Amino acid sequence: MKIRTRLTLWYTAILFAILVVISALSYSLLRWSLNKDVDDSLLAVGQIVRDVGGIPGPAPLGGAEALVREILGPEFYDKFFRLVDPDGQPRARSPFFAGAAASLSPAALRNARRGAPTFETVALRDGAPARVITLPVLRAGRVVEIVQVGIPLARAHQTLAHYLRTLLILVPVGLLLAAAGGALTARAALARIDTMSRTARRISAEDLAERLARDGTGDELDHLAETLNEMLARLEAAFAEIRRFSADAAHELRTPLTALRGGLEVALRAERTAPQYRAALASSLDDVERLVRLAEDLLLLTRSSAGAEAKAAPVDLEPLVLDVLDTALRLAAGGAVTVRLADAFPRAGDAQLTVTGEAMALRRALLNLVENALKYTPAGGTVELALAREGAEGVIRVRDTGVGIAAADLERIFDPFVRLDAARARATGGAGLGLAIARSIVAAHGGTLAGESAPGRGSVFTIRLPLA
Ligand code: ADP
Repeated sequence: MKIRTRLTLWYTAILFAILVVISALSYSLLRWSLNKDVDDSLLAVGQIVRDVGGIPGPAPLGGAEALVREILGPEFYDKFFRLVDPDGQPRARSPFFAGAAASLSPAALRNARRGAPTFETVALRDGAPARVITLPVLRAGRVVEIVQVGIPLARAHQTLAHYLRTLLILVPVGLLLAAAGGALTARAALARIDTMSRTARRISAEDLAERLARDGTGDELDHLAETLNEMLARLEAAFAEIRRFSADAAHELRTPLTALRGGLEVALRAERTAPQYRAALASSLDDVERLVRLAEDLLLLTRSSAGAEAKAAPVDLEPLVLDVLDTALRLAAGGAVTVRLADAFPRAGDAQLTVTGEAMALRRALLNLVENALKYTPAGGTVELALAREGAEGVIRVRDTGVGIAAADLERIFDPFVRLDAARARATGGAGLGLAIARSIVAAHGGTLAGESAPGRGSVFTIRLPLA
């Protein structure tokens, strides 16, 4: 069922319930106030009839009634009365007191003898209901006579029936009008959603540039459009990045493949001696190794940026740093770059710095930083590893005294396939994936990796990881 229909139905159902309750309340209020009016007027008339007509002795009723009629005027209209003696025997009655039970009801008689008035609803001879008050006339504390005044209820009942008929017509009409109005309102409010969903359907992965129209009212739908547009912008950026990445990766793969093909073609062009074949194969093997490394790096980057299978285990940072230091010492062996630990490296007895994550991945990230530091630090320089606790974070720093990085490039170098011109030479530079891999591994561990540098004087790369 459409939201529009559901909204209208709910709205109508609630309105119906409200109308029913209000109708019932107003109907009973009207009935109550009509009854009260009848009773009040009966009491008033009864008291006057009692005072005027309730005279002991054989006073002719006709005279009394005429007198009462004169006193009361219109108030007496359609009322009737009769006089009853204290035993309950009717003595005189107005001609209208046609049908009511010949004698007093036992309850009314009982009340009258106690001096209290009684209101009753009785049936007239033709079955029509009437309201009757029974009032005792007291003389010196003794009931000498009983006055009964009645009024047919037909008019009050007619008024009620009329009101009920009006309700029965007005409520459904009101409901119909409200339902129609509700449906129109709902349709108008939801029309924009229709438009939005049509636009959204048009937007595909190929064309993420389109945006949902906003009307600037700042209402919920405007807000929704804004949220969806932000999401589209993020998707567009992500898709663009993926496209760029694929293009860069293809380009990066093509270079060694072209070299490989060239080498093989040259080797096959003529008969070669065994040593020549061996040389050609060895050079091909270099290219293949580069391809394998590239493929591995790509895989690693994809895995770590997808955050997949990060096996969470406690990782002690100190042995990890010492292990990488070991590797760095071996890599630097024979060169003129000094590799060492910072003075402030935690000593035995210091609290352990433990993070949660995958030791192999973290080692890879740190090793990438250290390899870079060694690569871009000329002879005589120093590469220094530091580990410290800063607040709730474990901080690893790789400091070098190498060529440094221009401020404008400092963020760029973390993007995949970015190599700075100075380091473009394939001999030293990798594919430009090292820092991208390191950053995505650290990010997958909830940490950050940032670089600072003074061109010509060296760089510091800082890994911050939340401690377990
Ligand atoms: P690569 O595999 O080429 O080293 P990276 O992503 O690790 O790729 O580094 C990207 C670029 O950042 C490098 O080409 C280099 O120019 C620059 N770079 C990285 N580390 C350093 C450093 N310690 N000193 C100077 N330049 C660096």
